[in-house]
Amino acid sequence: MAEPIPLAKPLLGEAEEQAVLDVLRSGQLSLGPRVPAFEEAFAAAVEAEHASAVSSGTAGLQLALRAVGVTDGDEVVTSPLSFVASANVCVMERAKPVFADIDPVTLTLDPDAAAAAVTDRTTAIMPIHIFGYPTAMIELEALGLPIVEDACEALGARYADGSLVGGRGHPAVFGFYANKQMTTGEGGMVTTADPSVKARIDSERNQGRAPDMDWLDHDRLGFNFRLSDIACAIGLAQLSRLDEMNAGRTRVSELYYEGLAGVEGLSLPCSDQGSERRGWFVFVVQLPDGVDRDTTIRSLSERGIQSKPYLPAIHLMAYYREQFGHREGEFPVCEKVAAQSVALPFFAEMTTGQVERVCAALREILGQT
Ligand SMILES: *Cc1c(COP(=O)(O)O)cnc(C)c1O
Repeated sequence: MAEPIPLAKPLLGEAEEQAVLDVLRSGQLSLGPRVPAFEEAFAAAVEAEHASAVSSGTAGLQLALRAVGVTDGDEVVTSPLSFVASANVCVMERAKPVFADIDPVTLTLDPDAAAAAVTDRTTAIMPIHIFGYPTAMIELEALGLPIVEDACEALGARYADGSLVGGRGHPAVFGFYANKQMTTGEGGMVTTADPSVKARIDSERNQGRAPDMDWLDHDRLGFNFRLSDIACAIGLAQLSRLDEMNAGRTRVSELYYEGLAGVEGLSLPCSDQGSERRGWFVFVVQLPDGVDRDTTIRSLSERGIQSKPYLPAIHLMAYYREQFGHREGEFPVCEKVAAQSVALPFFAEMTTGQVERVCAALREILGQT
C-alpha cells in the first residue's frame, strides 16, 4: 500500500527546536519573557490591542466567558456545530448553552436564529468561526449583547468588513493544538481591545494574582491556565512562518476544489462571500445524500487515507441529551451537515500527489471516477 496520508501534520523545524533549546538553557521555563513576547507578536499578527496566552483554547474560552460576566443561571447563545469545548465551558461556568441553528452555506451561527434564541437570561453570544469561516459578526453585534468569539479554527480569517478575525474588540479565542493553523503543542490565546478583560484573564489564569502582588497573595479565585515559556517560544517561531503555512493550506484547498469539482451530490466548503475570507483549517466535505459515511471513511482508510466525521452535533451528544433533554430534529440544518460531513487530510506541506490520491480515492468510492 502507498504511504499513509494523515489527517493533519504540524510544520515544525529547526527554528522551533532552537527556540525550545534556548528556553531550556535559560533556566526560566515559566512566567518568563517569552510569554509577553508571544502575546505582543500574536496581537500584532491579528491586529488586536491585547492578547493573553493561556494553556489551551478551552481554557481561553472559559476565562473569556468569565471576563464578559457570564455566571450562574445565565444563558449563552451558541452554535451546535462546534468542537464540544465551546459548549462545555458554558456548563463549567454554570451557564446554559442555548443552541441556535446554523446558516446552510457558511455553517456558522445564523444571526436570525441566534436573535430568536435570546431571552432575558441571555448574557452572551458565542459564535464559532467553524472550519475557519467567519461568522456574520455585524448582524450578531446588532443584538447588543457581549460576545465571545470561538476563533480556535479561524486564525487568518477576515470578517465581511475585511478586518482580521480577533481584532474586532470582543474577546476572541484561538487554539494551538497540533492540528491548528499554528501549534504550541497545547496552548491558546485570547485577544481583546479591553485592558480590563486582559487584566482579569491574566490574573485568573495565574491563581487570581494581581500583577504587582507577591507570589502568595491572591485577590480573587483563579486557575492555573498559564502557558509555559517553552510553548510560547514554539509559538513565536510558528508565528514567524504563519504566512508560509497559511499559503500552503490555501494551495492545498485550491487543489481539492480542482480535484473534486463536478462530483455529483458532494458538497465542498463554501467559497468566500464578498470580502469575507476563510482562514483555512480543515477541508470538510458533505457526502451525497444516501452515501454511508462510516463505510466511506473505512474505504478511505483501506487506501491509506485518514479521514474523520467532523463535526458531530453537540446537542445530540450523550451528556447534552441527558442534561438538557435535547433530541433529533431541533436544529435540522446542523444535524444534516453533522451527519454527512467528513474531514479530508489537510496540512500545509501536503503535496499535489497526495491531494490527487485522496480525490481519486473518494471519486472511486463514490463511483464517480
Ligand atoms: C480546537 C478547538 C477548541 C479547543 O481548543 P483546545 O486548544 O484543544 O482546548 C475549541 N473550539 C473549537 C471550534 C476548536 O476547533
